[in-house]
Amino acid sequence: MRKKFVAGNWKMFTDRAGAKKLAEAVVAGLAGDNRVEVALCPPFTNLETVAAVLRGTPVALGAQNCHFENEGAFTGEISPLMLLDLGCSHVILGHSERRHKMGEGDALINKKVHAALAAGLKVILCLGETLEDRQGNQTGLVLKKQLEGSLAGLDEAKLERMVLAYEPVWAIGTGHNATPQQAQEAHAFLRGWIAQTHGKPAADALRIQYGGSVKADNAESLLKQPDVDGGLIGGASLKADQFLPIVRAGI
Ligand code: PEP
Repeated sequence: MRKKFVAGNWKMFTDRAGAKKLAEAVVAGLAGDNRVEVALCPPFTNLETVAAVLRGTPVALGAQNCHFENEGAFTGEISPLMLLDLGCSHVILGHSERRHKMGEGDALINKKVHAALAAGLKVILCLGETLEDRQGNQTGLVLKKQLEGSLAGLDEAKLERMVLAYEPVWAIGTGHNATPQQAQEAHAFLRGWIAQTHGKPAADALRIQYGGSVKADNAESLLKQPDVDGGLIGGASLKADQFLPIVRAGI
């Protein structure tokens, strides 16, 4: 059985003091319960602060992006090795805000995925369709293209260190979550594609998180879908009293 995995994407929010408080509240609220895997993904500037809070707890530390080289003349970038050095075990790649606001495409995301895995990080790879895609009945095509592009060249062994996050763009930060049925349908599609390309055992083992306006009151119905293995949580991860019930919905 796949263990549920809930990650908090803090985006460009929190200062160091706020990050410390939030991480401490999450750790205290979980009280060592690791029935659901949990990761916190603060901004780069707060990774070290949050790492100190999470050390010795079951909560993992993730970053929100990285470059595809480990070092070099890339002003303003952060490398996979730098993230490891700070205590990260995970990195989010291909988030829709990076795809749509920062112009990242599947080829670039694929390079980052390879680099992050090679460095020893686990990857939460985000994908999802826009509202226009969905209304034009293009969801399947778009997801297939994103899978093909961002997973190019990855074998089953590498896939073991990956998690997919299905995040319909129209649901992110909008307050309009996908219905449990819509989420289940998309997740089943993604798992089916992985079964075809990487085999059924790899597909059965792969965790697929849902992301997009998950809140305490809709988490349970989403997380109980058979192919929904957890959540990637934006807004509701910024308050421990909103995030913790989402984690508990995965128990
Ligand atoms: C996200 O940023 O990955 C996300 C799903 O945001 P929200 O939960 O705020 O929709």
